[in-house]
Amino acid sequence: MATPASSPTPPRIRLLATGGTIAGAQTVGGRGYQAGALSIEALIGAVPQLAAIARLEVEQVAAIGSQDMDEAVWLKLAARARAALAEPELAGVVITHGTDTMEETGYFLNLVVPSAKPIVLVGAMRPATEISADGPMNLYNAVAVAAHPEAAGRGVLVVANDEIHFAREVAKTNTTQVGTFKATHRGLAGLVHAGRLHLYAPPVRRHTAGSEFAVLPVTALPRVDIVYAYAGMGRELIDAAVRAGAKGLVVAGVGDGNLNAAALAACAAAARAGVAIVRSSRTGGGVVERNLEVPDDELGFIAADELNPQKARVLLMLGLTRTADPAALQALFFAY
Ligand code: GLU
Repeated sequence: MATPASSPTPPRIRLLATGGTIAGAQTVGGRGYQAGALSIEALIGAVPQLAAIARLEVEQVAAIGSQDMDEAVWLKLAARARAALAEPELAGVVITHGTDTMEETGYFLNLVVPSAKPIVLVGAMRPATEISADGPMNLYNAVAVAAHPEAAGRGVLVVANDEIHFAREVAKTNTTQVGTFKATHRGLAGLVHAGRLHLYAPPVRRHTAGSEFAVLPVTALPRVDIVYAYAGMGRELIDAAVRAGAKGLVVAGVGDGNLNAAALAACAAAARAGVAIVRSSRTGGGVVERNLEVPDDELGFIAADELNPQKARVLLMLGLTRTADPAALQALFFAY
């Protein structure tokens, strides 16, 4: 077990705030709430214990619900994290973020920020003004993880509900419960109880300082869309994505990334036209393998391997900044 750092001079941690429910305030007497309504200073003020474990430096990068997260904020966040972690005296970065798209932002940063120092995303399922709000303890735990030297070299982490997850592995699996985050394939990065860390095995796939996408700052990302497969699917949405200018398309296929004949024909035509086609799965778990029911070699498709559709989209966007060759893109899905 690793206890929270408690030296007379606690480590410097940069807190990059983006909004989310952790900064959400309910309307008086109402059921609803507005994500990102509270400032990061108000959140920190609710957890005075933070001062004992870190010297926090706050930067408000955005103030949005994470349903409004987009590529522009990702690029800004990556640049701010990159700049912060390049400061020799800075121990780590914590990013407050809505839970809806945290898995995508986390995986993106996992691929583009070239630092072995801890980078921790944290959110909450209950607004800050709700009964038993989970944000204050999540924030305390996230800062404790980022401040701890043993959390280094593990890629971008997500902390919530006393759990530490690898950003690559984690997915939001429940609309409202505090235990929404699950890692279907490779399990937890660790546990954290009131700032005390229990770390498990490090990740095996390439990340952060070992990522080829982190060598130079990423400045632009190509359009990649996701199409969800279903019984009786037609080809129209695939054709529409191609017409809209998508350079890549991720299909949330049925089962093992499968598509019916109409969708398959549309994807095959798109691949012939140079659009990268990645087959992921709508099942929420399992590996999409090559050439089982779909002849990937013949059609020039890419199998998403372990990545869910939204993470596959992140890797495909980054991959397309380097190559459009399906074989080279497939290699990325086996490496990251
Ligand atoms: N839509 C909100 C968001 O992602 C709610 C989810 C949350 O933060 O828990 O910012």
